[in-house]
Amino acid sequence: MFFLAHCPIKSIEYQQFCFYFVYQYKYMHMKITDLIVLMAIVSVSCSSSGQEEDKTAKNNTMYKVEKSENDWKNELNPDEYKILRQCGTEAPGTGKYYNFFEKGTYLCAACGFELFDSKTKYSSGSGWPSFYDIISDSNVVLIEDTSLGMVRTEVRCANCGGHLGHVFPDGPKPTNLRYCINSIALKFEVEENKKQ
Ligand code: FE
Repeated sequence: MFFLAHCPIKSIEYQQFCFYFVYQYKYMHMKITDLIVLMAIVSVSCSSSGQEEDKTAKNNTMYKVEKSENDWKNELNPDEYKILRQCGTEAPGTGKYYNFFEKGTYLCAACGFELFDSKTKYSSGSGWPSFYDIISDSNVVLIEDTSLGMVRTEVRCANCGGHLGHVFPDGPKPTNLRYCINSIALKFEVEENKKQ
């Protein structure tokens, strides 16, 4: 089934459409040209809805810092834009804060909002900076993420909506949480600088 294989949305609805058209062609003597035209229309329709479902650092939450994608592109470097605004993930073990344990505060790399205290950072062995808690519940937004065939909880900056990473229920006590965060989404502020 060419259209089924190439449609970006493998939805049940689309598959039902395909089987309906094939049924029409085989048993109801629908003309082959009509069949092709109808299936092409549905394929384009699926493609359009697929674009709407593209994952970007936006949802219905209103953020204090709202900027156009062009502004974010100009302010962030390409790697930061990919992670923070397009929900990317840096390669494991490559982030500058993965094996980094200085005392201080981790801020959002996009807007400077305080996110994590170094006291809650630990070695998870995951390949990404890991924290067992956030500075305040109100400083991040948690969103269900069903991409890649998994159900995960995405973590975003509550000030600008920037994608930070995900949180998993396999961390150490006292929270039993593991905030698995991209280094590129963070900016570190040393403790001495904070006191000044
Ligand atoms: Fe932010």
